[in-house]
Formats: sequence, C-alpha cells, structure tokens
Amino acid sequence: MSEDKRKLVVVTGAGGFIGGHLVSSLRARGFHSIRAVDIKPLADWYQRFDNVENLSLDLNRRENCDIAAAGAHTIYNLAANMGGMGFIENHKALCMLSVLINTHMLQAAVLQKVPRFFYSSSACVYNGDKQQTFEAPSLKEEDAYPAMPEDGYGWEKLFSERMCRHFREDFGLRTRMARFHNVYGPWGTWYGGREKAPAAICRKVIEAKISGKHEIEIWGSGEQTRSFMFIDDCLRGIDLIMESDIVDAINLGSSEAVTINQLVDITEQIAGIKLKRRYNLDAPKGVNGRNSDNTLIQKLLHWQPDTPLRVGMEKTYHWIYDQFLARERGDAGVVREVFVASN
Ligand code: NAD
Repeated sequence: MSEDKRKLVVVTGAGGFIGGHLVSSLRARGFHSIRAVDIKPLADWYQRFDNVENLSLDLNRRENCDIAAAGAHTIYNLAANMGGMGFIENHKALCMLSVLINTHMLQAAVLQKVPRFFYSSSACVYNGDKQQTFEAPSLKEEDAYPAMPEDGYGWEKLFSERMCRHFREDFGLRTRMARFHNVYGPWGTWYGGREKAPAAICRKVIEAKISGKHEIEIWGSGEQTRSFMFIDDCLRGIDLIMESDIVDAINLGSSEAVTINQLVDITEQIAGIKLKRRYNLDAPKGVNGRNSDNTLIQKLLHWQPDTPLRVGMEKTYHWIYDQFLARERGDAGVVREVFVASN
C-alpha cells in the first residue's frame, strides 16, 4: 500500500451524487482513512459507507470547515448548492452562497496545513456569448474569458476558481480544478427539482411507459445541444487531474454532443417506446449549444471521457427504473437512496 493511501482524505458533498461515488471509488482503491462530509442528515445521503468517518456539517460555517479539514492530506471539495437548469435559474442567490463553502474550506485548508485541494468547477463558467448557436460550440478553456458566465451559479464557480488559483499562488496550497460538463449516472438526483436533463428524461420516459400516457414534455425546443459525461469517466478524470501538474481549470467532459431531442431518442430506444413530444418553450433551458473541447486534456493527460452516451444512459435508465418502482411501492429504504455498503 502506498504511503498516501494511509493519509486522511476528505470529501465534501459526500452525501450527494458525485461525492458519494468518489468516496466509493476511494475505498475501492484502498484509501482507508476517509472523512465524508455533507450538510444533509446521514439518513438522506445517496450513498453512505462503513469504515468512513461520516459527518453531517454545514460547511457554510467556517468553524465546521476547520472540523472537516483537520488532519487531512487531501480535500476534494464537491459541496455546493446546485441542480439542473430548473434549479439554478430560479435559485441564483442560493447558488452564489456556495462561495461561503469554498472560501471557508480554502481558509481551513491553509490554516490546517492541508497540502492538496481539489475544486469541482463547471462548464457554466463559459462566456454565454460563445454558446448562442445550436451547433454545439466546443468550448476551450480560454473561452471563460472575457467573463460572462451563467448568472448566479456560473459566476460563483468562476470566482471560486480564481480563489483556488490565488490560494495556490499566495499560500502554496496545491489546488487542482476541473470544469465538469453535465455528469450523469446511477445514484444521481432524479426527481424533486434539482435533477438534470438525463435523469429527468429517464424519469419522464419511465412515467409515460408505466402510466400508459405516451407523452413527454421537453423543456425548450429540444434543439439545444449538450454533452453528457458518465460518472465513471468523471471519477477517472478527477484522479488524473489531481495527480497531474495542471494548475489551471481544465475541461472534464464528454465531447459527444447531442441535442436534447437526440437524448430523448436514445432514452426511448432503451425503454422500447415512442412518445408524443410537447415542447415547453417557457421552461428554463440554458444556453443554446455547448460541448467540451478536449484538445487540452488529450494533450496533457492522453485521455478523455469516452463512455458512449448510449452505454451510460442504459445504466442510468435501469437504475432510475428500479428507484421509480420502489418509490411507487413506498419502499422507503430504496426511495431514500441510502446505501450502506461494505465493499
Ligand atoms: P449534488 O447536489 O448531488 O451534491 C452536492 C452536495 O453538496 C449535496 O449532497 C449537498 O447536500 C451538499 N451541500 C450543499 N451545501 C452544503 C453545505 N453548506 N455544507 C455541506 N454540504 C453541502 O451535486 P453533484 O452533482 O454531486 O455535484 C458535485 C459538485 O460538482 C458540485 O460542486 C457541483 O457544482 C459540481 N458540478 C456538477 C455537475 C453535474 O453535472 N453533476 C456539473 C458541473 C459541476
């Protein structure tokens, strides 16, 4: 076992989608000193594991960040108030308040002499002017400036990226940053208002299939383009970026762009159903087009996310299908998405 695997690793936002998977993968890779932190009560965490120090703490508060960071060798800071377009367009102040988490976690890391810090940024930092066409413009890292990010959520991410950079330059904290592009997979939010397009579309197709009402509402014209990264690729990318010398924020996303209509096509094929589409042009829909330009990550890491959308969606659809049925049955154990594993 390498020396580093004995040292304490902290994952914030561990009760959520990506954080839960990160704890799971760290355990599987042999890290045996892990602290998982989230504001949610433990019973509401999507995944929760044995042999991990699980703490329910509000990281908006500085004193809680000190508790979270104490003794750590590496911090993966994934905690944020976030969701899909429906959430971030209607909760801009709440999204911006995540700056408290990042500020206090960075300060705590410096005070506690934590050597390594990962920050999960987002494709929402990119300049809106460069995302006006539906032809899935590929966004290069430099396209974040001049700054005109997604209002609220994107501004907070861009500001926190810069804070990470200056904490590295001024205080010697080894910060690494990835700009995630639409991550999806099992154990993600799939209902309740914070879900993102892949999970929302799976749920709507399942609802239609089970109810026999063969219709689906699509937000916007369905011509918006996006790329979607499967969770396994996200975890691999986090690890590669964390171990690299890449100090600036780098894209971590799939370059397989599709329209929302094509995403619905794929989901319908998986479900074996064809639905009548209703387009809600008043619903939140975000920018017209966005794709991840992976030139830099390929050049620096000789790798890029490569799980085909169809493959990842198949896994996601079947997981949501099981959750949906469990919820219908009132099976609280599965509905609450609590999973105590001992792998
Ligand atoms: P998530 O909502 O499932 O997880 C975030 C977790 O942070 C939640 O469990 C939430 O309870 C926790 N949290 C919120 N406020 C907190 C606080 N004050 N103290 C402690 N915990 C708090 O989201 P996710 O999809 O797992 O995203 C993880 C990170 O990746 C976030 O920073 C997000 O902005 C970023 N990101 C995600 C995506 C994506 O597509 N999922 C895309 C771009 C960036």
